[in-house]
Amino acid sequence: MSQLYIYNTLTRKKELFTPLNPPFVGLYVCGPTVYGHAHIGHARPAITFDLLFRYLRHLDYKVRYVRNITDVGHLENDADSGDDKIGKKARLEQIEPMEVAQYYADSYHHDMELLNVLKPSIEPHASGHILEQQEMVSKILEKGFAYISNGSVYFDVAKYNKQHHYGKLSGRILDDLLTTTRELDGQEEKHNPFDFALWKKADPEHIMRWNSPWGEGFPGWHLECSTMSMKYLGEIFDIHGGGMDLLFPHHECEIAQSKIATGHDTVRYWIHNNLITINGQKMGKSLGNSILLSEIFSGNHPLLEQAYHPMTIRFFILQAHYRSTLDFSNEALQASEKGLNRLLKTVAQLDALPVSEQSTIDVTSWVKNCYDALNDDLNTPVMIAHLFDMARLINLVKESRESINAADLDILKRQMHLFLEDILGIKMEQAESGESELLPKVIQLVLDIRQEAKKNRNFELSDQIRNQLGGIGITVKDRKEGADWEIE
Ligand code: ZN
Repeated sequence: MSQLYIYNTLTRKKELFTPLNPPFVGLYVCGPTVYGHAHIGHARPAITFDLLFRYLRHLDYKVRYVRNITDVGHLENDADSGDDKIGKKARLEQIEPMEVAQYYADSYHHDMELLNVLKPSIEPHASGHILEQQEMVSKILEKGFAYISNGSVYFDVAKYNKQHHYGKLSGRILDDLLTTTRELDGQEEKHNPFDFALWKKADPEHIMRWNSPWGEGFPGWHLECSTMSMKYLGEIFDIHGGGMDLLFPHHECEIAQSKIATGHDTVRYWIHNNLITINGQKMGKSLGNSILLSEIFSGNHPLLEQAYHPMTIRFFILQAHYRSTLDFSNEALQASEKGLNRLLKTVAQLDALPVSEQSTIDVTSWVKNCYDALNDDLNTPVMIAHLFDMARLINLVKESRESINAADLDILKRQMHLFLEDILGIKMEQAESGESELLPKVIQLVLDIRQEAKKNRNFELSDQIRNQLGGIGITVKDRKEGADWEIE
């Protein structure tokens, strides 16, 4: 049986993964706030935890994977003030907040499907768990670790920190936080600037609101993940994951409120993926370098030189270790595209490989090396390097410079598909023929011929080309210089 070691953010060590109740594994991952289309930053946690989900299942664990949808309570500045992100969009577009949430959740699911990300076992919505969240607020109030202030309820971080370490996950110390957090201006409801909202009183213009013992309002953002993870996975569960951007304050707040509500820690392994930079820069809407996944798949963005297949994006993300930063650039993506195509082309030729009596290739060690890499904190870059090594040997077999026997070839075929398809989640029908690159070139070639015909005043031929392209769904639009085309 494979022994999976996984880096626990809380202990800052790689630990042997031992579930609480094997073969069952509880996995909770913070999902998207659905107020906009998914961008490249959403792809990394989705693919990282999809890999973990797939690998745990491959190891015969029965995984209950919960990934939430945030549809209420996520305020604009990720703190306890500002507009609700979904409510604001709903007001601007004059539609129901739940229409906003539904529309962007559907869009997220569509992108995830293209990336071959498996659906979680349960996908709970924050707005569907208001009652449970109110119950948790009441518990924390009863235990004396929260206070009511002007219709809102805040968690008392200073009191918590006297008994427990607030900041243990992200390695922060409250005294340091005090010096870096802005001062309260005396007008505010909070006792301390780092206290966080469990329940917020709704202003008159706030659309999403529920009755509560503390007046009409809505839950604080951090509360939903504590509530829903415990509801579906139990008061102690195996893994809680998310992007590193959620370490503080989101996960730190979760730890504090869950500990007070239950009297103990609730999460056994905390796992965080690192973030994506774009051309060496932090990504952000204000920086103008936030690229939507749909833009990447269509190539329709000023920073992109071409369209990229979803499997190229997936492979590119898996070529870096999930705890390393990953820089997104055309060069890097094109390298991934080439690499993946080369790999898939070789794998597609396995069936036609000549078989010998003897093997010069050590397939058994290769399989072990691949598993060793995965078991070492999901080291996909090393594992993928082993796949490329094998591809090189396969090509040498074709040239009769290496040999493989029938039994080894069987193992190789089975394992190659298992590693690539089942565990890494690469769909094999990906552009191994290079179709996605070839088509635009071919169309351009035809249009160049048509341009030549026009120049020679052969309008019959030029019209014929345009009409026949139209007949197969390619619309040609004449411009001052040359012509544009699009596929209907
Ligand atoms: Zn969360």
